[in-house]
Amino acid sequence: MNTERMKELGKKRSVIRELFEYGNKRKAEIGAENVFDFSIGNPSVPAPAEFTEKLCRMLSEENPLSLHGYTSAPGDLKARNAIATDLNERFGTAFGAEHLYLTCGAAASLTVSLSALVGKGEEVILFAPFFPEYTVFIETAGGKAVTVPCEWPDFQINFEKLEAALSEKTAAVIINSPNNPSGAVFSEESIVKLSKILRAAEEKFKRKIYLISDEPYRELIYDKKDYPFVTKYYKDSVVCYSWSKSLSLPGERIGYILVSPENEDWREVYAGICGAGRALGFVCAPSLFQHMIPECIKMTSDISVYKKNRDILYDSLTEMGFEAVYPEGAFYLFLKSPEPDANAFCEKAKKYELLIVPSNDFGMTGFVRISYCVLQKQIERSLPSFKKLAEEYFK
Ligand code: PLP
Repeated sequence: MNTERMKELGKKRSVIRELFEYGNKRKAEIGAENVFDFSIGNPSVPAPAEFTEKLCRMLSEENPLSLHGYTSAPGDLKARNAIATDLNERFGTAFGAEHLYLTCGAAASLTVSLSALVGKGEEVILFAPFFPEYTVFIETAGGKAVTVPCEWPDFQINFEKLEAALSEKTAAVIINSPNNPSGAVFSEESIVKLSKILRAAEEKFKRKIYLISDEPYRELIYDKKDYPFVTKYYKDSVVCYSWSKSLSLPGERIGYILVSPENEDWREVYAGICGAGRALGFVCAPSLFQHMIPECIKMTSDISVYKKNRDILYDSLTEMGFEAVYPEGAFYLFLKSPEPDANAFCEKAKKYELLIVPSNDFGMTGFVRISYCVLQKQIERSLPSFKKLAEEYFK
């Protein structure tokens, strides 16, 4: 491990965290209701009451030694069976417990998968804009990130640029749909085309190229659009999931890795995932929430709240003159900065107590991310400030 790099990572806070801390300071100075903090992706809708009731019942009635004890390293069998059955019912797949590895949220799913699948000096393709931690995870696994930008206005994949980026060094491609920060959802057509290109690249370069699908926002899709299940399109795929967003449990650190059984080498891949989990200390995910999985597998938080927020924010800001990607999912609005420097735009927004994140850390310049996982009241109260900000640009 590179100790200097670790110190550097520990000392340097992300732009999102900086802004979040600034927001807390401002709230203490002028009152929370006067600061419009759109910086962070912390769910604003609680887990359903039924979830809390089941959790309380479990805590009061079940044996605490088994509830809080170690499970088997890849996860409790009942929990893995419940996940497999649910996915098979929803997507017509044929997964079993043996294809699933439970982890501490999507972040651990990604670090474990990358350590298992990417060799030293190999490349991982990312579609920009992307979740900033990807580059940290890839570098820690010994790999190198290669960025392919998505295209305005729908933020689907630019396939020409993807083909140019693929090489004999490509070990994996990460997709994240619904996307943080753009809110875009890849169409089935995009997934079909992506799979075809990756299959051709595997043949051309005579190697495996894994598709890692990071899906913490899978359930947060609006307007009845579906997002295809990637294992049905591309056999060398691995899915990383967590309940952080769909069930509003980011602090409980619970998620899973699914290895596609369509891959003829899936047992080897799964062994690599178990080995990487062991090497990184991600064995035996939080036990209490593993035991909750069979109880809550069909539940989500009330997603309609985010849809309402999306509609108010998108409609109001575009009416004021701003341009944005239409967010089909997740809870982020990706707004075009009305001046070339998104940092300067965010600084101007701060004058009106609007805390929004410049896109540079997401691998793309010229945009800002607005997290709308906030109370509807905050969005409504922030609109006059957005209006004043708009008037600085669109007179
Ligand atoms: N992937 C994406 C795209 C995210 O937005 C996040 C968190 O915001 C994560 C992964 C990490 O999720 P978790 O909190 O489940 O580790």
